[in-house]
This record gives sequence, C-alpha cells and structure tokens, in this order.
Amino acid sequence: MSHLVFTDSYINGEFYKTDKRFSVDDPATEKSIVEVSDIDEQGVNNAIDAAKGAFVKLKATNATSRSATLMRWYELVIEHKQALAELMTKEQGKPLKESLGEVEYGAGFIKWFAEQAKRSYGDVIPPTDDQHRLTSFKQPIGVVAGITPWNFPIAMVTRKVAPAYAAGCSFVLKPSEHTPLCALALAYLADQAGFEKGAFNVLVSENAKMVGELLTESDLVRKFTFTGSTAVGKQLLSQCASTIKRTSMELGGNAPFIIFDNADLDEAVTGLMGAKFRNAGQTCVAANRIFVQRSVLDKVVKKLNEKVDSLKVAHGFEEDSDIGPLIYAKAKQKVQELLMDAKQKGAIQINAVKELGGNFQAPVILTGVTPEMDIYHQEVFGPVVSIIAFDEEAEVIALANDVPYGLAAYFYSQDIKQIYRVSEALEYGMVGINEGLISNPVAPFGGVKQSGLGREGGHQGLDEYLEEKYVCMKI
Ligand code: ADP
Repeated sequence: MSHLVFTDSYINGEFYKTDKRFSVDDPATEKSIVEVSDIDEQGVNNAIDAAKGAFVKLKATNATSRSATLMRWYELVIEHKQALAELMTKEQGKPLKESLGEVEYGAGFIKWFAEQAKRSYGDVIPPTDDQHRLTSFKQPIGVVAGITPWNFPIAMVTRKVAPAYAAGCSFVLKPSEHTPLCALALAYLADQAGFEKGAFNVLVSENAKMVGELLTESDLVRKFTFTGSTAVGKQLLSQCASTIKRTSMELGGNAPFIIFDNADLDEAVTGLMGAKFRNAGQTCVAANRIFVQRSVLDKVVKKLNEKVDSLKVAHGFEEDSDIGPLIYAKAKQKVQELLMDAKQKGAIQINAVKELGGNFQAPVILTGVTPEMDIYHQEVFGPVVSIIAFDEEAEVIALANDVPYGLAAYFYSQDIKQIYRVSEALEYGMVGINEGLISNPVAPFGGVKQSGLGREGGHQGLDEYLEEKYVCMKI
C-alpha cells in the first residue's frame, strides 16, 4: 500500500497513539484496510493547545512566506497525486479516475489560497473631519476547528485548511471516521512543506460527538467550520453559540435540475450524467430532483436511458469503473428504502432492475416522482435519477424553490431571456446554466436557507478566516 498511510492522530507535528483502535474499511470489499487509533479527550485538548501555540508563531509570519509554504504543499500534493488517489479510492470507493480528479481539484484550493494569501487588503476610509484618519485591516481569527465528511476526503479538507493557513490561522481538523487516511496524508505533506508545528492537527475518532463537543465548546477555538448534513450542522451551530464563534456551514442540498423544452437535449443529458452520477451520487450538489418540460420528456428519458445503460458499476480500481460502491451498508439501505417508498406511491423505474451485491447500487431512473414521496424531499446520496414532468416556467420555479435547502441548482435553456429570469428566481447559492459541474476553487461555493452559512473558494473563502479591525486615529 501507499507510503502515505498513517494510523494515528497528528498533533503538534507528531503522531499521537492511543490504545483504543477502530477499523477503516474499504467500502468496495467491506474489509478492513487498516486499524487507526481513536483519539481521547486528552488528545483533543492537546491539539487545541498545540494550535494555540502555533497561532502565536503564525502571527509572526507574513503573507508572502505563508503563500510560499502553501505553494510547496500544493506541489507536494501534486507530486503524490497517484498515491493520494489510490488511498482515496481505497477508503472512499470512488473510481480511480475520479480520485485523481479530486486530488487535482483539492490541490487547486491550496494553489488558489497560496495566491490569495497576498491579497487580504484593508481599507483607507475617507475621513469625516480634519482631525481623524480612519482605516481598517484584516487579521486572522485565531484557532480554527473543522469537521469534514467522507464524500470528498481531500477537497473538503484543503478548501478549509488552505484559506485558514493563508489568513494566518492554525487548524484542528476532525475528518470523517470513514476517511481519515487522506486527511492524515495531507497533514504529513503540509508538515513536509514547512507548516509550523501545531498549525494543522488531525484528530481521528469514531466518537464524533465527544470531539465535536470539545472543539465547539472551547474558548480557545475562535472559528468553527463544518461540511456535512444539515441535522448535524444545526447541532454544531447551536453548540458554537455558547462561545459566539464565527462559523461556516456547508450543509445539505436538494438540487433541482431543470430541462426546458428549448434546451440542447444532448447537452442537458450529458450534464445530468455528471451532476447525478459523480461519486455515485454522493455529493451535496448532486442533481436530486430532475424537472423535465413535458413536451420533451420522452426524448430526454430515452437519451438518458441509453447513457445510464452504458455505465459500469465496479470496484474503483477496475478499469473503466464509472460508479463505485456507496460508502457503507446503511447508505445503500437508505437508497433502497427511498426507492421502495417512491415505487409504492406510483413512481415507475424505467430501466431494468439490477440487484448488486455488497455496497454497490445500480443506477436507477424513476419517472412520475411527486412531492408525496420521500425521495423528492431527501438528499438521495445515491445513483438515482428522480424525474418530475412540468408544464410552465413559473410552475417549475415554484417547485424548485419549495424546499428548505438552497445549495446548487441547474437548468438547461437556450432562451436568453429565460436564462436571466430563471437564474435570478432560483433561491440557491449556486446556479449552473447549461453546465452540470460547477465547483471551482476560484468561485464562491455555498448555500442559502438551510444549506448553510459562508462561502468556500473564491476571494470570499479567505474572508471566512479573517476579522476586520477598524482603527480610528486622532491627529
Ligand atoms: P455524512 O452523512 O455525510 O457522514 P454527517 O453530517 O453525519 O454527514 O457527518 C459529517 C461529519 O460530521 C463527519 O466527520 C462526522 O463524523 C461528523 N459528525 C457526525 N455527527 C456528529 C456530532 N454529533 N458531532 C460532531 N461531529 C459529528
């Protein structure tokens, strides 16, 4: 296996071993890859203290040197691209080609924030009288704690840690217990790149609740950033209230994907394949409700069926695998329950039913999905296309917006007036127009409503880790 496999939490530049261990499993084989040690309370507190110590050191650095360190980290991640991608496919299951893509995408955040580190400009404010000079400038918030999910084990880490370091903040990260190996490898490479000891600590644990409580309740931690489900995000947000932390929350979505009758249908179906099946549908921006204008419904379904038929569901290391396993058995069970509920309430599966073993889930196309079905309201997080027919633009906008979430939305249209109308009317943080894959380190990623707070990536991503200080001087 890769030389980048580490099995203990990483605190203050050293590995921290405990006696309690748990297994990280390969979702494709359901066999153990390796046992890792489970952090104890002492370890969590040590990591917070180490980050506090590192913050003092970081305060004495300048943006140009932090930028150079980030650039070395970026280069090391790219240098180890193959090993990191293999590690990812092992612990997360996605096809190797997608893992390679994610390493590049994840590294892209490090590079972007290496560049942005040098651009945390302040303001010189025109004074209101002759006796004062007014300025404001930006300073790092302090110690940051973050909790990340398993679906993008590298990108979800780099899009938080890189801007934090660029701003001059130190970090305590708890990655998902299902994918700690990529996070540990990233921390090791950051150390090699010259991160100060304690600037990036990784806590491996199966006891997310204990770690989450200590991180959110600590007064030393001044910023908390989370990516995961809305339910857990709400809980963590309320835990952060006791110490009034700054927070960023990247939570769940229920993305509409709308195909209007004037769209280029081939492009729409191609876009849908990406927005739906990437990572076996396990993304928070995955197309979840597919609205197709009734006059083109049959054509879209036919084209889609042909493409879905050619998808290969297989172990991520198999040549040409398009869809790997779901992350664990409970995830597959949830998809199956949603399918059963939808079918009982009248949805029709239009492709052949295929039962696959283990955590593998064959792609499914459902037509006749309605708001009465659970699948309409919940993030499927699996390879299921739920199709809903609509007649009018106003009707589909109302349906698209009528959910508590507002992360990503997509639509396909060739009518320029409609493009403006619909992109403005969709209550979502991100909109893809004639494009199904929109994530990009240079652009602000994030949601409205119950999909979250704050933005990652773009120039906005750096501000999440900076405080603005206003200075009023009498002369
Ligand atoms: P997912 O279903 O994608 O795993 P979760 O929101 O359950 O989404 O998990 C995202 C991250 O949140 C993971 O790192 C997980 O360990 C962590 N987590 C889950 N429950 C809690 C909790 N009660 N407190 C803190 N972290 C939690």
